[in-house]
Amino acid sequence: MKTPPKKIDHIGIAVKSIENHLPFYENVLGLELLKVESVETQKVKVAFISIGSSKIELLEPLNSESPVAKFIDKKGEGIHHVALGVSNIEERLQEIRDDGVQTLNEKPVKGAGGADVAFLHPASTGRVLFEFCEKKNEEE
Ligand code: ZN
Repeated sequence: MKTPPKKIDHIGIAVKSIENHLPFYENVLGLELLKVESVETQKVKVAFISIGSSKIELLEPLNSESPVAKFIDKKGEGIHHVALGVSNIEERLQEIRDDGVQTLNEKPVKGAGGADVAFLHPASTGRVLFEFCEKKNEEE
């Protein structure tokens, strides 16, 4: 029996500057900015914007070594990944690996907001970068 992901936790969008893009989300769409934080392990600054039970995550590279900087160099700004909210992330990773899906992370790493995250290899997913994301202390 599979345990499906619970929801789309967030959509990650790569931007050169969070500051330049926030007015669209806040003023044009009228959405609420929840928080901005730096995630040193991923070399990004992230802004979380609330939209229903989901979020938009703006990702700004902290330096040119950031994977997000490399993404923007190659593809320009735009949708970077889709994050699926899961429980028991380690089990879910094992389960999809048993199905032959490659993952970019062997084990979950700490992402924004202290969530445990792991990325699936786009070669296994029809070229979409999916993130598994588990938040241990979040009300649904
Ligand atoms: Zn994400």
